[in-house]
Amino acid sequence: MSGELKPCPFCGAGETRERVNRFPGVLMNGGDMGIISVEITHWCPAAPGQPNRNTITRVGRDMESAVAAWNQRAATPNPACAGYVQSGITEGDDGVA
Ligand SMILES: [Zn+2]
Repeated sequence: MSGELKPCPFCGAGETRERVNRFPGVLMNGGDMGIISVEITHWCPAAPGQPNRNTITRVGRDMESAVAAWNQRAATPNPACAGYVQSGITEGDDGVA
């Protein structure tokens, strides 16, 4: 792996796996066809009140960009999201106007 993964921002632990998706087949020289994408998938531990373990997946074109995507954190809350977060969702409201 190229680069350390930061701990999960939600649980700080859990289980994390990397998956490299490659083009199928083999080159004439025996080499592989290259990487399509790399997925980093994380499962937080089960928590009371949650229907199942929360899963987070970040994807990159290679391991370095997948690790960078996982490690990305907002320095400050995005003001554009403030209204959505503050509006909340009430029971039975699917959020569609
Ligand atoms: Zn977690």
